[in-house]
Amino acid sequence: MFDSQCGQVKHSAPISATSLTNDCMPRVAFLGLGAIGAPMARHLARDEFDFVVWNRTRARADAFVAETPARVALSPADAARDRDVVVCCVPVSRDVESLLDGPDGILATMPAGAVFVDCTSGDPATSRRMAARFAEHQIGYLDAPVSGGVVGAVQGTLTVMVGGDVNTVDRVRPILECFGQRIVHCGVVGTGDALKAVNNAMLAMHIWGLAEGLVALQKAGVAADIALEVINASSGRSNTSMNLFPPRVLTREFPRTFRLALLDKDVAIAADLAREQHVPSPLLQLTAELFRMAHNELGELADHVEATRVVERMGGAEIYPSTGASA
Ligand code: NDP
Repeated sequence: MFDSQCGQVKHSAPISATSLTNDCMPRVAFLGLGAIGAPMARHLARDEFDFVVWNRTRARADAFVAETPARVALSPADAARDRDVVVCCVPVSRDVESLLDGPDGILATMPAGAVFVDCTSGDPATSRRMAARFAEHQIGYLDAPVSGGVVGAVQGTLTVMVGGDVNTVDRVRPILECFGQRIVHCGVVGTGDALKAVNNAMLAMHIWGLAEGLVALQKAGVAADIALEVINASSGRSNTSMNLFPPRVLTREFPRTFRLALLDKDVAIAADLAREQHVPSPLLQLTAELFRMAHNELGELADHVEATRVVERMGGAEIYPSTGASA
């Protein structure tokens, strides 16, 4: 990808920190240091990259660079200037789109030949629109949402589902591998977004379905730890029943790692996808409606697993283990 002279970006070979001299280290930017963006970016703050970060709220970027070798950029345009790769991870696609234009926008400075990697769990239509905008500037675009949660981001074991040109994927693979253990090329631009949305719709269904079942069992006299012991050794088990409910619902701790508002957005994207593809999808549409309702009720800061609280309220019972009722 790089010419022997620094400052020249070419579409020829993959980015490789090890194949470059110290003078020509890959220039990378990361935009959006939120719950998952910050731990992802931490893996790029390493000696072999010239690395800058930008965050809408400056204090978060300042805190990040205080702990890492990264530098703070003052605007998206400042972050994208002379970069080989710009990675972005913000809530929704329209937030990404809002960073493109104007004197402070990415397109004002990002060089031809570079690649924009959007790790936002976005929507396919907006990703296709943005890919076209970047293409007008000879910049590559990939939608590259991730799964594995904050723990996976901290450990660098995320799955990255990528939509876009396969050669572009190969060029930025060394960057993606800094935070991703499994890099999966899904198809054309937008397919990474589509797959991510469907995956998260499954997560939402598991949360809601398990919550309904456990509330009903609670009222029938079966404590939640007993119920989960059986379910997790049986065919009804899921990541939700094994890894989310025991440490989050049974303890009533509900740690905030992935906002309910973001899961609502993901399920809505999956429901739209099914409608656009003319797939009868009553379960997806209902799940989208339920998560919109839970989001409205619990607000912007609630964690996704807290949707359980809405099921409990409607069912008139709280889920608790046999060791003690919390209500
Ligand atoms: P957070 O809400 O924790 O952080 C959002 C980040 O985006 C913050 O840095 C915020 O800046 C910034 N931001 C918000 N709005 C804008 C805007 N309009 N313009 C510029 N920057 C903005 O979200 P997460 O980090 O949890 O999620 C980011 C993406 O990753 C989402 O698409 C989400 O669905 C996805 N994701 C999240 C996972 C998780 O476990 N958290 C797991 C997998 C995917 P500021 O500091 O100013 O608020």
